[in-house]
Amino acid sequence: MSKRLSLEEYKSGILSGNRAVLSRAITLIESTLAADSELASQLVQEILPATGKSIRIGITGVPGVGKSTFIESFGSMLLEKGHQVAVLAVDPSSQKTKGSILGDKTRMEKLSSDKRAFIRPSPTGSTLGGVSAKTREAMLLCEAAGFNVILIETVGVGQSETAVKGMVDFFLLLMLAGAGDELQGIKKGIMEMADGLFINKAEGKNLIEAKKAKANYSNALHLFPMSENGWSPKVFLGSSLDGNGLEEVWEMICSFEAITLERGFWKKNRENQRLNWLNEAVQDLLGKAFVANKEVNTLLEKSALQIKSGALNPMILAKHLTKLFLKS
Ligand code: GDP
Repeated sequence: MSKRLSLEEYKSGILSGNRAVLSRAITLIESTLAADSELASQLVQEILPATGKSIRIGITGVPGVGKSTFIESFGSMLLEKGHQVAVLAVDPSSQKTKGSILGDKTRMEKLSSDKRAFIRPSPTGSTLGGVSAKTREAMLLCEAAGFNVILIETVGVGQSETAVKGMVDFFLLLMLAGAGDELQGIKKGIMEMADGLFINKAEGKNLIEAKKAKANYSNALHLFPMSENGWSPKVFLGSSLDGNGLEEVWEMICSFEAITLERGFWKKNRENQRLNWLNEAVQDLLGKAFVANKEVNTLLEKSALQIKSGALNPMILAKHLTKLFLKS
């Protein structure tokens, strides 16, 4: 493992767009060592003025829907347009299995080998809160390094979508035609979070089904209450393999940006996201301190049997533990 750099070295490397330093800084963010965590927090503070100038796009969908193929094509298209593209992947599976649905090296081969793009597999962590905090910080570092489009990928099957929704400007859901929503494992809540839908693999024999699905999803989305930003989600269809429909997706995102900027929602959304970030950080730190507290642990051990057997109301014990924690 290479030696840590100094704060100044990280900072100047990132601000000058040095990919190797950016990579090392993200590794620093992922580190669980207290000294690294301290340095990482300082680094993020130092580069904050250089952040915020990108479009942050969340991309989700069940495994197999074509997320990596989409990002490969979409990312390449954006590079051709002169954008600087960074891709971060949030992979909740790696917490449990240490394996990874998203971390497969063969994914996004073209984009990975393109020097203009930056791709980083998911920062791992022991909690979802931890993963999302690290992803946020990684995103800020990418912005400071000059990337103006950040794509954050997540598997569309769990809580990680909420976390990603909480850090992006635009949330895109990839779907397939012909497979029922249940089959696709997409929860209604995830549909509700989407600012746009892209029905992938809409080519050849699939095209007719895809057109039907587009009409159905457009109708379904209209039934959801209008979001406070005044944007009604749009549905597009296309093919990540041959690139059809990707231009429309980009146009949709650009018009979303223009409209929400004009209405003030873009700024408001980011302000709220920063406040939520603070909340999550406080909860995360408090949670860790609580779990590490000696007196709390002693009482917890003593009372575990009573809780398991149902003899003691967990709320009473929780109040007791909290009091102990606050006193210590
Ligand atoms: P992910 O698990 O969501 O990242 O999905 P992948 O991008 O790995 O794609 C899963 C499979 O679908 C792969 O075999 C892709 O080649 C294929 N695929 C992805 N997009 C398309 C598309 O637009 N059309 C067709 N026909 N196949 C696609």
